[in-house]
Amino acid sequence: MPELPEVELFKRHFDRTSLGRAIRRVTVKDARIVKPSAARLAAALAGARLGASRRHGKYLLIALGKPGWLVLHFGMNGSLRHFVRDADEPPYDRLRLDFADGHHLAYVNPRRIGRVELVADAAGFIAAEKLGPDALDPRLRPAAFARAVAARRRDVKSVLMDQSVVAGIGNIYSDEILFQARLHPRARADRLDEASLRRLFAKARSVLRTAIRRGAGSEQALERLPRGFLLPQRRKGGRCPRCGGAIATLSYGGRTAYYCPRCQPLAPAPPRARGRARP
Ligand SMILES: [Zn+2]
Repeated sequence: MPELPEVELFKRHFDRTSLGRAIRRVTVKDARIVKPSAARLAAALAGARLGASRRHGKYLLIALGKPGWLVLHFGMNGSLRHFVRDADEPPYDRLRLDFADGHHLAYVNPRRIGRVELVADAAGFIAAEKLGPDALDPRLRPAAFARAVAARRRDVKSVLMDQSVVAGIGNIYSDEILFQARLHPRARADRLDEASLRRLFAKARSVLRTAIRRGAGSEQALERLPRGFLLPQRRKGGRCPRCGGAIATLSYGGRTAYYCPRCQPLAPAPPRARGRARP
C-alpha cells in the first residue's frame, strides 16, 4: 500500500513530467472513485494548468488555480503514470489527463480503493481529514512528536499508523520503524520512556528517508534497502536481519504486523507514577 515514501515518489514523478502542463481533455474511466462527481471534476480540470504539488502524509495535492486543488489518494496499490504514446497507456487507469502537448498523465488504481477529489483549498482539506503533521515535515520537532505519541493510551504500532497523530505511516513502514527502534508493536505508547520516544522519532525519519532514496514502490526497492532492514523479511519464514531468529506476526484488524520477538521484546514498562500498580 502506498505510504509516505511511495507517494513522495509519485509527487516527484508528477513534478518531473506534468507540472505546468495544460489539460486538453479529461477522461474519467471510473466515476466511483471520483468526488464530487465525474462531470464536475472533468469540467474543472478541462483547460486548467497543473500547478505546484504538495504531499501531506499519503495524499498528493495539486494546485489547479481557480478550480481549487486536485487531491489524489492511492488506496491499496494506486499510482501515477506519465506517458507519451497512446500504446503506453497503463492498465487500470481510472482518470486520464491528455495535455495540450500530446503527453498524458494517468491515475492508476487496480483495486479501486482510494480516490480523486476536487477540493477548494489544500489546508482546509488537511484540516477536514484531521491529518496530523506530515511525518517528514521539518517543522515537526522530536518533542512535539513524543508528546503526541505518548498522549495515546494505545499500542505504539496503532499510534504510528494513526494519521491524526502523524501522517504518512502505514502498516509496512511502521513495522520497519518499530524494528529499527527495537520496540514491540504492542508496547503501550503512553508508557514509553523518553529515550524510546526519541529513538522512535529518529528511526521514523531515517526509515522514511531511506525508503524514498532507495526508490520505494519499485520492483527492485526491497533489494535496494540497506542490510539490516526488516522489510525484505516481512513474509512467511522470514528471519531477523539482526539476530537471525524467526520473524513473528501479530494480527492488526485484518492486517499483519511483522516483528522480531527477540530484538523487540515486550519489556515490562517502568512505573511512571509512584504507587501505581503495574498490570
Ligand atoms: Zn532479532
